[in-house]
Amino acid sequence: MRTEETRTEAESSGKMKNAGRMRTIKLGERGLALGDGSLMVIAGPCAVEDRGQLLETAAAVAEAGAVGLRGGAFKPRTSPHSFQGLGEKGLELLAEARERTGLLVVTEATSTENLPLVAEFADIIQIGSRSMQNFPLLTAVGKRLKPVILKRGLASTIKEWLDAAEYIRCAGNEQIILCERGIRTFETMTRNTMDLGAVALLRHQCKFPVMADPSHGCGRRELVPALARAALTAGADSLLIEVHVKPEQALSDGQQSLNPMEFARLMEELREMALVMGRKLVDLKGGHHGAAA
Ligand code: PEP
Ligand code: MN
Repeated sequence: MRTEETRTEAESSGKMKNAGRMRTIKLGERGLALGDGSLMVIAGPCAVEDRGQLLETAAAVAEAGAVGLRGGAFKPRTSPHSFQGLGEKGLELLAEARERTGLLVVTEATSTENLPLVAEFADIIQIGSRSMQNFPLLTAVGKRLKPVILKRGLASTIKEWLDAAEYIRCAGNEQIILCERGIRTFETMTRNTMDLGAVALLRHQCKFPVMADPSHGCGRRELVPALARAALTAGADSLLIEVHVKPEQALSDGQQSLNPMEFARLMEELREMALVMGRKLVDLKGGHHGAAA
């Protein structure tokens, strides 16, 4: 009988591996193809806080060229005393923002209990770092037919991360996007240490599209653009970036959120970089900027 170790080894080095190009995942009703060599940016606040905050942020990120709006309605906060999110009301606001802008909605399910509700509203379901090894949740999201962003655990190895993805795949859902969001190391001057080697490695040998989240990756607004550019260079298919209309007033993660102007500037830089790399930045306005991949 094979041991657990051999089995997971085989899974992560065998089935997960793909000598050719990765699987593309179709997103939303328009069927935007993630993983085809283009770059897609998903942006928005850490948490949905109120209608004005969300709708203003959504309009700004759509205008700057994002294809998706991120925003937590159920927030997995380290402290029970921190803002926990608006729950269902937050999901309704995300749906309204989608209606107005056409942005895809990305939001987190934190439990098997709230997954059905989240899945009703989300175009892409986020599984957060703190849930990466919540195996019942992974299996439950694996039984759904929606794309899933699987964030890397706070202190998880790449193999543990791929094994978590395998739980989703085994349950029947292959629409998995692996999101590097920084890991915990001995370093204290940044919130996390962004593992760009993981982005390059997965891009090289894993069939799933790779996303990078430079906001949680460093935790400092002033470093986010540099890490976003670096992640694009390392091969990320997509970027997840925290943007808030008033970062200084944010109820969570304001210190790592860009304001709309900073985000628009970064998008211009990414657009130019993509062009140089022979890739295309996909937006909702019409498609593709830059040369075809
Ligand atoms: C988030 O995306 O706001 C979040 C909670 O991220 P993570 O799970 O990576 O900490
Ligand atoms: Mn956050």
